[in-house]
Order: sequence, then structure tokens, then C-alpha cells
Amino acid sequence: MQLIDGKKISSDILDEISLEVKVLKAAGKKVPHLAAVLVGDDGASQTYVAAKVKACERVGFESTLVRLPRSTSEKELLEKVSELNANSNIDGYIVQMPLPKHINEQKIIESISPEKDVDGFHPQSVGKMALNLPTYLPATPYGIIQLLKRYNIPTEGKHCVVIGRSNIVGSPMSVLMARNSNPGNCTVTLCHSKTINLKEHTLQADIIIIALGRPEFLTANMVKEGAVVIDVGITRVVSTQTKSGFKLLGDVKFDEVAPKCSFITPVPGGVGPMTIASLLMNTLLAVNSKN
Ligand code: NAD
Repeated sequence: MQLIDGKKISSDILDEISLEVKVLKAAGKKVPHLAAVLVGDDGASQTYVAAKVKACERVGFESTLVRLPRSTSEKELLEKVSELNANSNIDGYIVQMPLPKHINEQKIIESISPEKDVDGFHPQSVGKMALNLPTYLPATPYGIIQLLKRYNIPTEGKHCVVIGRSNIVGSPMSVLMARNSNPGNCTVTLCHSKTINLKEHTLQADIIIIALGRPEFLTANMVKEGAVVIDVGITRVVSTQTKSGFKLLGDVKFDEVAPKCSFITPVPGGVGPMTIASLLMNTLLAVNSKN
């Protein structure tokens, strides 16, 4: 069994991006500029956005954090989005989800200029992804593709079972694994909450990608010998064993599943660290596609 080290791969990618920024600078070009819009004071969102800003600093990107109060109306947010679309100094930006309930998230996503949609959530980006055209890939699936690529994990002709069909992970992941590409070229089964007898499917899988949000859901009796298991789930649970009083659990019962796997991602330290690296890769793409 080989552990897939997302922390290391993410750090390698940030180093590669830093080098590219140095090259841009040396050529007298503008450094990439990523902006993030944060509405309200949700603790997890603040942490994610702070990590994104910090990663920008590390690679030499410019970053702008736009903080708006929870009371911001949909109209005000749409105005801010228009401003960012028009600001030629900003190459790409994200609107951190979730948004307060009174704002229609889809409406906001659709108002982001596709050229600056570095989260890859705009319908144009999703459509291009499905057509295997160059575009911004959503961060978490893009991160998983990088892990498979950099560990040289063969995917062609393999049976990949994706569990979960969210717009941000499961659904795009199933599309990417089925595309005529490397990684890709899998026969894909997409499982979700209405799937009957999930175990029958997972036992057939060469590759399992699970994005459910149910701690330790995937057990050893659901996995065939030699499978590749990618665990996207992150759930914070109370723990008496840690100083902080909580720990993070994935969707996989790691201790019993890992010995059966050829490759497996741990939680934390697997898929998680890749998301920010993907966002920065997309921002670099935003710049390079203009040059
Ligand atoms: P979601 O809640 O939007 O979707 C969960 C999916 O699971 C749904 O499509 C549902 O149909 C499916 N599902 C529910 N019960 C099921 C069952 N019994 N059998 C099969 N399918 C079932 O979740 P999400 O946003 O995709 O996130 C999933 C997990 O991944 C969460 O723990 C989240 O925190 C984590 N996540 C991690 C990262 C990262 O590592 N950077 C990014 C995004 C999400």
C-alpha cells in the first residue's frame, strides 16, 4: 500500500507556481492577481479564505480579500461581482460559498465572468469541462486529477466508482474520470443517495473516489484487494485524544481499508491540501491564456 501525500504534492505545485511567477516578473510582466469575496463571518469560510490568501503570498501572487457583511443584499453582491469582472488588474476571483440564505448562489455563480471563474463553477466552465475543452476545472476534482497523475496511477480502462454527486466534487469527478484523457478513460459508475446496494458497485471498483461527508462510511468489506481509494470527505468530530478537542475524519475507515489498497489518500493530508494548489493553478492559467 502506498500513501498518497497530498501535502507534499500541493507544496511541490506551489513551488512550481512560484518559479513561474519569478519568470513572469523577470520578463517585466504583471504577477497574477487573485481576489476572494467573503460574505458574512462563517468560521470555516474565514479559515479557507485566509489559507488562500496565505498561499498567494507564498507563490508571489497579488491577492485581494473583499469582505462584505452578512447583511449584504443579492443586488449589492451582484454589483461587486460586476466590479470585479470589469477590473482588469484582477485575473481571477472566487466568491466563497456558502452564501447567506437570502442570496441565490447560482445567480452569483452565473454572473462571474467565465474568463475569471477560477473556481470553475460557471456553467460555461462546466460545459467546456464536459466537452474536454481547455477550461478551469473545479478545484477539488482538479486536485484529485493531479494526485493520480503525479503518482502515475494508471486509470485507462479501469472501473472507477465515484460516490456522491455534488456539483463541486462528485459530479465533475465522474466527468473527468470518463473523459478521453490521462488521467481519465475510465468506465465510470456514479453512485449517490438513491443508489441501491452500493457495496455491489464498490466491490467492482479499481478506483473509488468517495465524497459523502459521512465519517468512516467506506469499510474494508466494500473494497476489493488492490483498489485505489481517494477519500474526499472531511468531517470534524469531537475527540478526547487531541489537544484541540476535535479531529478530522474522512469517509473511509482508514485503518481497515488501507491494507487492502494499492494507493490511498489519508485524511487529513490527502485531497484537502490540493484544493488551494488547484485554485492557484487556475489563476496562473487565467494569466497565461491572456498572454
Ligand atoms: P454534498 O453533501 O453536497 O454531497 C454528498 C453526496 O453524497 C450527495 O450527492 C448524495 O447523493 C451522496 N450520498 C449521501 N448519502 C449517500 C449514500 N448512503 N450512498 C451513496 N451516496 C450518498 O457533499 P460535498 O460538498 O460533495 O462534500 C462531500 C465531503 O467532501 C464533505 O465531507 C466535504 O467536507 C468534503 N469536501 C472536501 C473538500 C476538500 O478536501 N478540499 C472539498 C469539498 C468537499
